Amino acid sequence: MRVVLYARVSSHKQAEKDLSIPAQIRALKAFAHEQGWTVVGVYEDKGVSGRTGNRPGLQNMLRRVRQGGVDAVLVWKLDRLARNVEVSAAIDGLLRRQGVKLISLHESFDDSPQGRFIARIFETLAEFYSNNLSQDICRGIREVAQRGFYPHGRPPIGYKTVPVQDGPAIRKKLVPDEVYAPIVRRIFRLYLSGKGGKEIAKILNDEGIRTNTGNRWSAQRIYSILRNPVYVGDLVIGMGPHSSENQKPLWLRNVHEPLVSREEFERVQELLNYRAGTPSAPRWHASPYLLTGLARCGRCGAALCGTSAKSGKFHYYTCVRYYKQGKGACSGVRVRKEKLESFVLEKLLTVILTPQNLDRLVELVNEELAADFERIDEELERIDHEIRSQKARLARLFDALETGKLGLDDLAPRIKGLREAIEQLQEKYGELLEEREARESFKVDRQTVLAYVRELEKVLREGSLSEQKMFLANVIKKIEVHDEKIVIEYRLPHPKPQEEEILLPQVLHSTK
Ligand SMILES: [Zn+2]
Repeated sequence: MRVVLYARVSSHKQAEKDLSIPAQIRALKAFAHEQGWTVVGVYEDKGVSGRTGNRPGLQNMLRRVRQGGVDAVLVWKLDRLARNVEVSAAIDGLLRRQGVKLISLHESFDDSPQGRFIARIFETLAEFYSNNLSQDICRGIREVAQRGFYPHGRPPIGYKTVPVQDGPAIRKKLVPDEVYAPIVRRIFRLYLSGKGGKEIAKILNDEGIRTNTGNRWSAQRIYSILRNPVYVGDLVIGMGPHSSENQKPLWLRNVHEPLVSREEFERVQELLNYRAGTPSAPRWHASPYLLTGLARCGRCGAALCGTSAKSGKFHYYTCVRYYKQGKGACSGVRVRKEKLESFVLEKLLTVILTPQNLDRLVELVNEELAADFERIDEELERIDHEIRSQKARLARLFDALETGKLGLDDLAPRIKGLREAIEQLQEKYGELLEEREARESFKVDRQTVLAYVRELEKVLREGSLSEQKMFLANVIKKIEVHDEKIVIEYRLPHPKPQEEEILLPQVLHSTK
């Protein structure tokens, strides 16, 4: 089958909710590829309303369709093609006359739990593609950073940038700043001597020292310096407050001259965590743990947080209440990180994404579709009946006219009214027929679903941490870790009971 792809993003606010054009096109291409279809054209409209037919991309696409040699138009969502009923009808009519099918990835699924399940798989994938895309953009920055250059604009306080020739380009390198580097070092020393962020800020302010932007110091500013690994010579890319949490951060070690030693820095981090009462600095430590945010303590319901043994060699999920407040607050749950993670991933693959499960899902979706056909057919019959009876009434009026029982003046408005009613019913009938036809092409087959699931499996098995995290958040509501079992609650409706109880012998609780 030869298909053309059409993607659009709207111009207004909603654009943020839209899948980007490249992401739409990637998803469509992947879908076509899986189906074994040939893509013969790709058309897009950026920032134009779907209410108008006056879109260059759309016009080009329709022109291509009129040339022939196209079997279907593939869109991400039907509203990408048109938001306006008339425009939509016009496009529809045109495609139909050309014998070209219109296929939407998104609308292929009805609103039943099963339909939503499949839709979710598709959406997860689309998101996956769009995240990959933002990673592509980040790659440039990463490459620059990996080669030892500073990829951002303003340097962090304590450093300045110096220009370095790099082939034809001028890049920047971080070097200590004569004025502020000593102040940064002093902040670390003051903190290690037992002063808090507020006190340190006060000391500096009282001495008349200002920040590099001429402002007074705040505790917040002090803490952000104390937490920033840039001062040990490291650069973390893709994990700032502005970057998406789904991006895998890149931690480059020893890329520039440090202002404090690694030992000092680590001591400060420990102190920060200890004093803040948090087990780890969320910004820098949250991400290596795949299940944070999902895993909970089965004893007290608190979150499980990532912790590591003193050696740093073993990592655990530990009840945060136990960790912070000790045995008095919760007798505690602690599980080896790798074991819990591989266990959950494996469960997901064996419980949710099983061929049997998917077969059943496809079956359920198609059953729902069959129920829809029944509903539509009943409605069609009802309307047909109504049309007949209206026509009969119309005929009776004409009879009355012929036999002269009633005059034309009396009958004219009634005839007009009936004719209008019949027209409306016929229109409705046509619409329903179209809906029926459209549903016909929405039937899901096992092959379609399996193709996507295979891709998801790949993400689960080989994906980066951020990809895995994203997927898990989509399908798992929570994971409760008890002494003797783990309860996984899924977000996805699936044919089996929502909760899966897994009995665990000592495997998970052995700490080695
Ligand atoms: Zn607990």
